[in-house]
Amino acid sequence: CDFQKTNDSLLKHEPLVDSPRPIQIVLADEDNHKFELDTEALEKLLLQEEVRDLNVVVVSVAGAFRKGKSFLLDFMLRYMHNQQADWWLGEDDEPLTGFSWRGGCERETTGIQVWSKVFVVDKPDGSKVAVLLVDTQGAFDSQSTIKDCATVFALSTMTSSVQVSLCRWSDWVFSCLFTEYGRLALEEIYLKPFQSLMFLIRDWSYPYEHNYGLEGGKRFLEKRLEVKQNQHEELQTVRKHIHSCFSNIGCFLLPHPGLKVATNPMFDGRLKDIDGDFKEALGNLVPLLLAPENLVEKEIGGAKVTCRDLVEYFKAYIKIYQG
Ligand code: GDP
Ligand code: MG
Repeated sequence: CDFQKTNDSLLKHEPLVDSPRPIQIVLADEDNHKFELDTEALEKLLLQEEVRDLNVVVVSVAGAFRKGKSFLLDFMLRYMHNQQADWWLGEDDEPLTGFSWRGGCERETTGIQVWSKVFVVDKPDGSKVAVLLVDTQGAFDSQSTIKDCATVFALSTMTSSVQVSLCRWSDWVFSCLFTEYGRLALEEIYLKPFQSLMFLIRDWSYPYEHNYGLEGGKRFLEKRLEVKQNQHEELQTVRKHIHSCFSNIGCFLLPHPGLKVATNPMFDGRLKDIDGDFKEALGNLVPLLLAPENLVEKEIGGAKVTCRDLVEYFKAYIKIYQG
């Protein structure tokens, strides 16, 4: 895979190092259950003159491998690049690029990646903010990786202003447990709750029950978060806590993207191969997260955080889990 990438970039005469790409900033060492922060890479990115003093918006997409995070992030990148255009989703025949997402092509590492370009956006109130796109992923295949994964997710929750938790409806409660884990860390450092959490339920196939999109998601979530007497006690606690963890919780029901996306190994992200319902939902979802008027600036302890501050928070937070 790497070979192919190198080859592609040679063909296009692009220097590999300078083309925009995902950068691994937090890496879980699976053998020793340790976490490493690439401070140098983070500083290089966030201490650039154009962004270091701007308030930062950190949008993180979190989930297990092969859930479609990179696929979604690539569309988020398209939006960031084509925001001024009437039509941002792209051309029918244009392959998707960005965070690599082709099945089987990725090295699967538990950790956090950020996009190497920080976007500067003018908000409607005249202020400028820096937007950082983050990919948080982990493996869920054994007891020990689940714990590593929870740690990485907690780190991502603490450092993002909006966390999109991508899951199937059957495993979404899982992510609640992770945020619960993050809460424990929070109590340790006496900080206020997290900001926005958006459950993104993929392959939703009951639109007759709850419609695709935000409204259907809201109703679905209300139902799922209902605390009932006969529930397992642990589940009751998670459901009660989740509201105290986040200032804003949303849910979005995403349709299945179609068989080409899900199963065809030759699929390279062209719009023409993606189901209409999915494209429509995507067209609604991405601006909800990234339109200038919807951008949520990162706050910690009630104060807005600049790119420069974020570097320090990353350093402090990783220490909690290295300890
Ligand atoms: P990641 O590992 O979470 O980054 O997942 P990827 O974005 O690499 O996607 C993994 C595979 O799932 C790819 O083959 C995608 O074409 C496919 N995929 C992407 N989004 C969806 C989705 O919403 N539903 C289904 N069923 N497949 C998807
Ligand atoms: Mg990925």
